[in-house]
This record gives sequence, structure tokens and C-alpha cells, in this order.
Amino acid sequence: MLTLDHVLTHHGGVARGTLLHQFGIDRRVLESAVRDGSILRVRQGVFAVRGADADVVTATEHGGALTCSRALRLHGIWSLETDLAPHVWMGAHGRVHHRDCGCVSHFATGRTVLGLAPLEEVLIHVHQCRGEEAFFAALESGLRQRRISASARARIRRRLPTYARWLVDFARNDADSGLESIVRLRLHRIGILVACQKSIGDVGRVDFVIDGLLLLEVDGVENHDGPSLRHKDLRRDAWASVQGLETLRFDYALVIHEWPLVESAILAALGRVRVRVEAV
Ligand SMILES: [Zn+2]
Ligand SMILES: [Zn+2]
Repeated sequence: MLTLDHVLTHHGGVARGTLLHQFGIDRRVLESAVRDGSILRVRQGVFAVRGADADVVTATEHGGALTCSRALRLHGIWSLETDLAPHVWMGAHGRVHHRDCGCVSHFATGRTVLGLAPLEEVLIHVHQCRGEEAFFAALESGLRQRRISASARARIRRRLPTYARWLVDFARNDADSGLESIVRLRLHRIGILVACQKSIGDVGRVDFVIDGLLLLEVDGVENHDGPSLRHKDLRRDAWASVQGLETLRFDYALVIHEWPLVESAILAALGRVRVRVEAV
């Protein structure tokens, strides 16, 4: 027989009492589980497994499912930023249970669900709520992790406004980090095409190559700390120079907080390598 814990966990940690009844769990069992603290009554008729994620419980408490950046994180997807308060998907006509809580409601189409919004929905909400870059980086992160099937990808594309559908066509499944996704998107917007994840002789695998001569490395927060990795990077740069290639290296803070500088550096370097090519 299915235990209460199993049924709740199977439904993402939260469920309505009416659904639990369908699994043969009656009111008496629920009440005693709430009393002994093995489950949590989130609100009238809605229950959560003990240890359910706090944001998921908040969203449920307030009438819907957790979505946007905090939901991306729970899905294991790279997120450009973290929402200050939970964003709650209410379905098209969900009933709001907020009380001075500061969370943000989304009345996007669909049937109200409880708990954590499905990834496909979250991506659509992120596009509406956080814009193209946040959506694109999350989409590529999902594709890389094989979390978005071909049919889901097609559905996501259809659900975007027409002007934004190219983002789905432009997305790849081999971006190393969300930061890389954002750099590729921004370069594309200013007309710079890059080759991704190329292997170059003694240098090794490079994030981006432009015009075959300019190497671009985007170091995520988690990589390239520590002396041994730094040594490896320096060695790669030395080999690139031997082969007549120029390397530019940017980290999270530069890409996110100082993009105009990054863009100018890339354009200047491109100018130099192009002049060299013309001179040959
Ligand atoms: Zn709220
Ligand atoms: Zn949102």
C-alpha cells in the first residue's frame, strides 16, 4: 500500500486532501499525520511532506506553484538572477492567498497546479517576467541537461510571441554555462558569429572562436579558481600565442556588470586580427 509520504513526494511534495483521498488516505490519517508532525498542513485542505522546499511551501500557501528563477534552481537549471521573493504561478484564474508577503503572482494560462511549476511552464514565465537573456540561458541549460525533449522544445517555441521564437532556433545543447549562453546571444545581437566549443591543436577546447583567430574564454564562477587551473589557463594562452591566435578571457562579473567594456575589448581585438589577415 502507498504511504502518505510516497503519495506526497510523488506529487512534488504537496497535494490537496481531495487527491490524497483518491489514494485511500482519509481525513483521520491526515489529521493524525499533521498532529504528529510527519506532514504539514499548508492551508485548508492542502498538505506538504515534511522537509518540502520552503519556497514551494510558500507558493502553495499563497495559492499556486513556485515559478521563475527560484523554480529554475529547484529544477537544477542555470538562472541569471535570483528573484527577491518567490514568484507564484496562479494558473489563469487561481485564487490568491497572499497576505503582505511580497511574492509576485503570475496569472499565465494553464490549470493551477500546486508545488513546483513544470520546467516547460517555468521557461515560458521566465521569458515573460525576466526577458530574453534569462530565458535563453535557462533554455540552453535545460537542453544541455537533456531536460527538454524535441516536442517540448517545439511547444515552447509555439508559446513564445512570434518575435521571440528565433531564440529557440538559435539555442544549442552544448553551452558550458549560462554565462556562455549570454555571451553568445549578445555577440549575435551585434552581428558577431562565433564557433562554439572548438578544439584547437595544443590549446585544447575553446569556448568561442571568432574569425578563426580570436579565442574567447568565459570563466564561470565555479571554474578557474585556484593556482593549478590558473596555470592551465596561462599555458593555453601561451600556446594560442605560439599559433598566432589572440585570447580574451572574461569572468562572470565582467560579463554581467561591465558588458560595454567586454564588447569594446572584443571589437578592438577583432579589428586587430582582421587587419592582420588583410595584411597577409
Ligand atoms: Zn504571497
Ligand atoms: Zn516571475
